[in-house]
Amino acid sequence: MSATSIINSVRLTTSASTSSGLSPSSQPNSFNPRKPTLLRVASSRSPPNLIQNKPVFTVPSPVPAEDMGKNYEEAIAALQKLLSEKGDLKTVAASKVEQITAQLATADAGTKPFDPVERIKSGFIHFKKEKYDTNPALYGELAKGQAPKFMLFACSDSRVCPSHTLDMQPGEAFVVRNVANMVPPFDKVRYAGVGSAIEYAVLHLKVSYIVVIGHSACGGIKGLLSFPDDGPTSTDFIEDWVKIGQAAKNKVKALHEGASFPELCTHCEKEAVNVSIGNLLSYPFVRDGLVNKTLGLKGGYYDFVKGNFELWDVDFGLSPDFSV
Ligand SMILES: [Zn+2]
Repeated sequence: MSATSIINSVRLTTSASTSSGLSPSSQPNSFNPRKPTLLRVASSRSPPNLIQNKPVFTVPSPVPAEDMGKNYEEAIAALQKLLSEKGDLKTVAASKVEQITAQLATADAGTKPFDPVERIKSGFIHFKKEKYDTNPALYGELAKGQAPKFMLFACSDSRVCPSHTLDMQPGEAFVVRNVANMVPPFDKVRYAGVGSAIEYAVLHLKVSYIVVIGHSACGGIKGLLSFPDDGPTSTDFIEDWVKIGQAAKNKVKALHEGASFPELCTHCEKEAVNVSIGNLLSYPFVRDGLVNKTLGLKGGYYDFVKGNFELWDVDFGLSPDFSV
């Protein structure tokens, strides 16, 4: 089953054609993200039936062996035969084979359209085969529960997954990721999502450390430094969100007058981590953990351009615990 078929099976009804501008024949039976249509669910009392119970794929399931092409062996045999008869063609053949190899190596990206279902499926099959099935002790333990030592804050940036960059195994870190790895101050109304994660990590999972990790070339921090401090916002969420780090912006601008924009960004990427650590102190259960010495706070910075990682303590300075 393809991704399209499950989307096609989604049952949505359009509002009356007069109000939606859709004739009955143009009622959507497929999803076109570039052509928004007015949709409403059949009944406002029942949730939209957006999820089909039949999965697109399940793993484990018989995975068809890859068809390498029936004529591959024959072609190779013919080439070998030719070269054994005409040895002087070996240099030409080597260069042609090299060419074909390079073409095939990039063929996926160049010729095949991106298939999200196939990517997810092959990714899970790889994980299942290489990690899950080879480590029954770990996954057996994790089936019973989790007891992570770390809570990590990291940016949503696709290049900075902390489990990946810090080589953490499943069960080691309770992770919150958001734009510019911000920890907002305690606010039950505005920041319930982050607040509930911190509450759960500290009070229920009893993590030992909360680490806020900034990173190089952070788009969120670049935004924080670029957006005007006052006046109307041009984004629905982003400006308000990254302004959690406003104090970092003010500080680096005052301290590094005359610095280039990229330099300011780097300073701000680190200083915003300190502001977030400061904000952690506004959560009563975090303060209690620090007083009782059951919880520690650390700042981190991953530079994926240079391949460095720094870690520092909650002294609001930038003397690294270690720097790699
Ligand atoms: Zn970022």
